[in-house]
Formats: sequence, C-alpha cells, structure tokens
Amino acid sequence: MTDTPKVIAIDGPAGSGKSTVARAVAARTGLPYLDTGAMYRSVAFAALRAGVDPDDAELVGNLACGMELEMPADGTVVVDGTDATIEIRGPEVTRAVSIVAANPTVRTEMRRRQRAWAAEHGGGVMEGRDIGTVVFPDAVLKVYLDAQPEVRAARRSKEVSDLSYETVASDLARRDALDQGRDDSPLREADDAFVIDTSDLTVEQIVDAILEQLP
Ligand code: C5P
Repeated sequence: MTDTPKVIAIDGPAGSGKSTVARAVAARTGLPYLDTGAMYRSVAFAALRAGVDPDDAELVGNLACGMELEMPADGTVVVDGTDATIEIRGPEVTRAVSIVAANPTVRTEMRRRQRAWAAEHGGGVMEGRDIGTVVFPDAVLKVYLDAQPEVRAARRSKEVSDLSYETVASDLARRDALDQGRDDSPLREADDAFVIDTSDLTVEQIVDAILEQLP
C-alpha cells in the first residue's frame, strides 16, 4: 500500500468515552477500528502470565517484541495463542498496564505494530493516548475526548461491577498520573486536536460532532 493511510485518531484518558465513540465512528465511516490500549494491556497480560515483574524494563521489553498478538475485527484478543479477551480487562492487568506502557521499548514496538496495521488496512479509526501526538501526527482528524474525573470514574465503575466506586476512582487517578507523567509519548492533547468534553453529551452527539469535522 503506497497511499498515506487515512487515520482518525481518538485519544483521551480512561472513561472519556473513547472506545464507544471510536467504534461508532468506525461503523459510520466504514473504516476499520484499532484499540491500541488493548495492545498495551496484552503486554501486561503476557508479563503477568510469565511471572515477569512489570517493572523489569528489559524483560518486559523483550516480551513485547516477541509477543504474537492477534486482534481480529470481532474484538477478540489472542496473546501468544491464548484468548486473553476477558483477562486483559481484569483488575491485575489494569493495575500493571500503565507501568508497562511507560517502557520505551514497549512503546517503540507497539508504535511499529500500529503503523504496520494502518498501512495494511489503508487507515482506520485508532483509539489510544498518543495516536494524534506521536503515532500519526498527520492523521486526517485528531480528536481528544475528556470528561470530568467523577464522570469518568462513574462510567468505569458501571463497567466493573465487582470493584467499589472509590477503588475505581483511585485506580483511574493513578493511571492518569502515570500516563500524563511518563517521558515517552505522555497523554496530552495534540495542538491541532478537536477537543470534546463528553461529560454531558450522548454518544450520538459526540459522534455527530466528530463526523462534522472530517475533511
Ligand atoms: O485505553 P485503555 O484504558 O484500555 O488503555 C490502557 C492503558 O494503556 C492506558 O492507561 C495507558 O497506560 C496505555 N496506553 C498507552 N498508549 C496508548 C493506548 C493505551 O500508553 N496509545
């Protein structure tokens, strides 16, 4: 594929509505969808399964580079032949993921795979933390979704019914701090991003606003 891939970047913190909105934008535009957070979660899963300390940068970096990752369009995530779809959303992986995601070797490898995916598909709706700032700074559209911290925590705690609101809220705040504070591609708005506060908007309103921005 020689054409520049047509990428719509959707970045933002956890609970900002990224996944729901990105999937809907993909459905409305007919573009394929990639959840890049699931890729970092897969690295954390592989480390935990191998008994590797998430803080061990060298071992985790090696794991990430050697990891066989399949993410078919049906949303399944297969890590080294094991279906990890459910486990990558679990509390152990959620606790470890931001440490793993701050590892520069892991990030370099995930960026390489994300760009390869976009080249192979001719583009797509890519959801993450650094898509518009680092992975595809030339994306046709960069969206940054945000919401009030209490709204984000409330959304997340509805999804994970076995954890209290307080636990979810403090996990989220911890993850935000790690994602915003790391040296390699921290979470931030791209200068030319279309920023939406989703706190009081419906999914349909957000998706319509994004589609209006498409060149
Ligand atoms: O989007 P999700 O909450 O599943 O992402 C899990 C974690 O993966 C984030 O908290 C962040 O540490 C990391 N991540 C990242 N860069 C991306 C996508 C996710 O660092 N592009």
